[in-house]
Amino acid sequence: MISAPFDYVRANTLDEALSLLAQNEDAKLLAGGHSLIPAMKLRLAQPPLLDDISRIKDLTYIREEAGQIRIGAMTTHYQIESSDLLKNICPLLPDCASHIGDLQVRNKGTIGGSVAHADPAGDWPAAIIALNAEMIATSKNGERTIKADDFFVDMLTTALEPGEILREIRINKTNGRTGHAYAKMHHPASGFAVVGVAVNLLFNGDSECKSASIGITGVSSKAYRPSAVETALNGVTLDEATIGSAAAHATDGVDVNGDVFASDEYRKHLATVYVRRAIAAAMEQAG
Ligand SMILES: Cc1cc2nc3c(=O)[nH]c(=O)nc-3n(C[C@H](O)[C@H](O)[C@H](O)COP(=O)(O)OP(=O)(O)OC[C@H]3O[C@@H](n4cnc5c(N)ncnc54)[C@H](O)[C@@H]3O)c2cc1C
Repeated sequence: MISAPFDYVRANTLDEALSLLAQNEDAKLLAGGHSLIPAMKLRLAQPPLLDDISRIKDLTYIREEAGQIRIGAMTTHYQIESSDLLKNICPLLPDCASHIGDLQVRNKGTIGGSVAHADPAGDWPAAIIALNAEMIATSKNGERTIKADDFFVDMLTTALEPGEILREIRINKTNGRTGHAYAKMHHPASGFAVVGVAVNLLFNGDSECKSASIGITGVSSKAYRPSAVETALNGVTLDEATIGSAAAHATDGVDVNGDVFASDEYRKHLATVYVRRAIAAAMEQAG
């Protein structure tokens, strides 16, 4: 299908992009276009004006600063997947990126676009929650920080306000022995997550879990933190029995989606299986 007519402006700086947004409240930001353009072609989205931020160089970077990992919103999935820095200090990010779509999608799609889009089956939201990331939102009124637990509000809805651009994603670096992993069941047609589980473990000793931070996507209307699983893992020695009983809480208090591919009962079961798999993979990654 062909999209409804729209105007297009390419912003050269963040300030230009913010001014355009402030003057046109129905304008949509265009990043990699790999969620927005399909939605426009299906006429699910009909923005009158596209504010193209894809050429703003200042929004593409991966760096360490002030004890944090800082990633510009326009950094592509592939740049994260292939970052040697991230492979060393935060392997969950390249691991998660490698599961997104195909090479073409990963070359154009951006972490900022994906996080701001908040697709309930998108991969990044699970990692963002597991890593307790902070989103830096900027507007004509200044900047604010939004914590991962407050960011994903509902299906395709985030805590970003009209006029705000997600500028940067920050992740605090952890000291100590950690284990990271992302385990995903890919939908065979779309490649999106039927279930995706991101795990970030901090260990006391060899296999005693000091703290577990987990994000789950694909299961409900938005990505979520399975708090009961985390609580059951904290302070215990991780083995088949403790992991199995913790994973049984993967969908506690969650309204589980069902569709033609996976019923709610099946998805609920998959969530427990993929929590177990992700924890096992994180233990292996920790070495
Ligand atoms: C064939 C195909 C397969 C895919 N498979 C997967 C998959 O397996 N897993 C997965 O997670 N995703 C998948 N995707 C989606 C892909 O990851 C998109 O790149 C991503 O969801 C959106 O990023 P984008 O940069 O393309 O954003 P765009 O499509 O440009 O924008 C998406 C939305 O976010 C807004 N936006 C963009 N940037 C910002 C910003 N900095 N601040 C505020 N708002 C912003 C836009 O206005 C728009 O509403 C797939 C897409 C395709 C086409």
